[in-house]
Amino acid sequence: MEPRKESEKRPSDPPDLTANHDSFTLAIFPVSRYLGDAALQQAVVELADRGRSDIKPADARALLPFHPLGQEVLKEKPDMDVYCLLSVYGNLVRTHVVVANGVARTNPPPEGYVCDSCHARGWLKKEFQESKLDGANIPVWLCPDCSKLKPEERDVRF
Ligand SMILES: [Zn+2]
Repeated sequence: MEPRKESEKRPSDPPDLTANHDSFTLAIFPVSRYLGDAALQQAVVELADRGRSDIKPADARALLPFHPLGQEVLKEKPDMDVYCLLSVYGNLVRTHVVVANGVARTNPPPEGYVCDSCHARGWLKKEFQESKLDGANIPVWLCPDCSKLKPEERDVRF
């Protein structure tokens, strides 16, 4: 019988966001601050422009001058509205997270879930497209009946 390694699973360890290079958090910003800071958006554009599948943990340094929030701040605040800048397989992904009453929801769907075009309810198809704001890939909610990715015709919320 093989002895089990004690170190295989240590749930008390804090998550090491740089350990898994497939997916890691670059920075977290309050949405209002992010949208109000053109220099910050420009820094993200420069990251996104570096080319596909090439965002590395060290690139988080480029965002440090803009004072990103720590993960612990997210846990302490009962209500927050933030953008998480992630690298997923080397691509820059900007994810909108809303924390209300201590419960975090990632990329909340548009209010009412009603399609602007055909007024279908309950549509929950999530797609990714490139943000015109900062070049990040952003998740958007689309109606499965009439959705094609037409960013110029849609009110993109994220
Ligand atoms: Zn529709």
